[in-house]
Amino acid sequence: MTGNVILVGAGPGDPGLLTLRGKQALEQAEVVVYDRLAGQGVLELIPPEAEKIDVGKQAGRHPVPQSRINEILLEQSLAGKRVVRLKGGDPFVFGRGGEELEALAAQGVPFEVVPGVTSALAAPAYAGIPVTHRNYCSSLHIITGHKQKNGKLELDYQTLAKLEGTLIFLMSVASAPQIAAGLLEAGMDGGAPAAIVENGARPNQRSFVCPLNRLAQTMEEQAVQSPAVLLIGGVASLASQFNWYEKLPLKGKRILITRPQQEGQALAARLAALGAQGDCLPAVRRQPLPFSWPPEQGFDWLLFSSIGGVDAFFQGLRRQGLDARRLAGKKLAAVGPKTAQALERYGLLADFVPEEYSGQALARQMLAQNLLNRQSRALIPRAETASPGLTDELDQAHIPWQALAVYRVIPCSPERQINPSVYDAILFTSASTAESFAACCPAETDFSALPALCIGAQTAARARGLGMNPAVSPEATVDSMIETLIGGFFHD
Ligand code: SAH
Repeated sequence: MTGNVILVGAGPGDPGLLTLRGKQALEQAEVVVYDRLAGQGVLELIPPEAEKIDVGKQAGRHPVPQSRINEILLEQSLAGKRVVRLKGGDPFVFGRGGEELEALAAQGVPFEVVPGVTSALAAPAYAGIPVTHRNYCSSLHIITGHKQKNGKLELDYQTLAKLEGTLIFLMSVASAPQIAAGLLEAGMDGGAPAAIVENGARPNQRSFVCPLNRLAQTMEEQAVQSPAVLLIGGVASLASQFNWYEKLPLKGKRILITRPQQEGQALAARLAALGAQGDCLPAVRRQPLPFSWPPEQGFDWLLFSSIGGVDAFFQGLRRQGLDARRLAGKKLAAVGPKTAQALERYGLLADFVPEEYSGQALARQMLAQNLLNRQSRALIPRAETASPGLTDELDQAHIPWQALAVYRVIPCSPERQINPSVYDAILFTSASTAESFAACCPAETDFSALPALCIGAQTAARARGLGMNPAVSPEATVDSMIETLIGGFFHD
């Protein structure tokens, strides 16, 4: 049976700029054929079991010719696979998507197209340039600076100079001096505002605004590299007023996230919104453990100390053919709002959430409010080895408790060796993430100057044991870690 091909626009790099339909297609793909312009964060959404085929083109070099890409798409889809062809930006904006569809249509392969956010619009937007504005222009033109005839760039400068619209050039880093000269010669004003946006909508974005007659010089001085968008038109002058992205608090920072995959991606998205690039190295993963229900001893409170604990608990129940009704009449406490939200996904509202999010605070505040006393019996679904903050407090108050091991934290096998020196910050959310991270580094790595940030005292103690000098966030929450990053981590 023939499979199909979905042509998906990946947007300019940030997974936040991928469409929902595009994400869904990626998650269901069996084969993903991608190039260099699809950002790392988008590539991380590809399921691990899917086959990934890199057909990326480096400027000037074409490792995989278009004809071969077309063949790969045909081979895979005719073999019955659900194929996603992932392309930077929008697949039809100078993306050769049309040529790929011709090849598919000729063989009767079913296809679909998911448009993407094109860099032609996103890069200016992230540099604070509205590509149209009533006071400046009445048209918008997207032009390739790559159209060659006999080795010469072929553009109709006379027409372009007359348009009085915003001119946006892609693939034009090398030809920018020619383009500027051509437009000036055709009568365009040398003082017309021009902008260059390099790595638009990515954490390493740089943008420059200058008059058209200084474009070539500015690009040379700033050593502008591809990919970059060139924009010529009055709207470029608005960048100084509206450049919002390059002013974000974590702009340009590269941060390594060691949490399990799902939480890691959520954190990467939050860091991206602050301008940083968050790379996920899931150093650990959770393996759900079987348990029997109901537990031998009765209980009246269930204390959930993590989101992972909630999910593993309900997975375990589900595996026994049971659901939330088994908790009828029991009281539920969650260590923090995120854990309470996790419970809500199973249709349950927490009866108690402490103001401060730690196991210790959970116990202390419940005791202070007399929710737990010596007659209460607490059941704590949690990791096989868990920190003693919560249970130490219960012991001191002589509250009977019972742990239910619902998952085990196991190190991910270090698939890739990492080079820690490229990171501005490395986040550890548990002692085991620090250990697994160390296992992914080359043997002789000196950790003493590593920009490590730990979520709490125990994680920090383990990090010190590994030779690190970590900073510790004031509260044991990811929010507090983010505040620490914004608040002075990089100025110490
Ligand atoms: N289909 C893509 C364009 C492919 S042509 C899209 O819609 O975005 C490749 C050109 O796109 C590059 O030479 C550069 O001009 C531009 N480009 C792609 N990603 C970019 C980015 N993140 N920032 C700036 N320019 C980018």
